[in-house]
Amino acid sequence: MSAPSNFPFLEDDSEVWFRDVIENHLEEARQRALSLTEDAREDDRGCLVTDTEKPRKVRFRGRQVDAYRFIYCVLNQAIASRDHVIRHRCHNRLCINPDHLEIGSQADNKRDDWANWAYGVDPDLL
Ligand SMILES: [Zn+2]
Repeated sequence: MSAPSNFPFLEDDSEVWFRDVIENHLEEARQRALSLTEDAREDDRGCLVTDTEKPRKVRFRGRQVDAYRFIYCVLNQAIASRDHVIRHRCHNRLCINPDHLEIGSQADNKRDDWANWAYGVDPDLL
């Protein structure tokens, strides 16, 4: 817990990895992301889900990441650092539908949870 959080030379490993994937392995990554969405089944809310209890993981180029994070970042060519969370607009963490995902900060994610709890709706849809 005592690691210096803003040490200037230490790049975030998540950011480094996504940059490498997007700059050097994008086509391979896109194929992988699309095959994951093709394997999933669509439920009655339009979510793409797999029959697992926990969010599915994907292993790609030596790293294991949440499938929804991988899919969002690859398809949107977004380089997510560790401070970025991939948010589920549908509030279904098992969902990997790229249309249901968006990127945000940790603080956004907390606010969403709170708004969802308070109003029972996605604040972005109000
Ligand atoms: Zn969904």
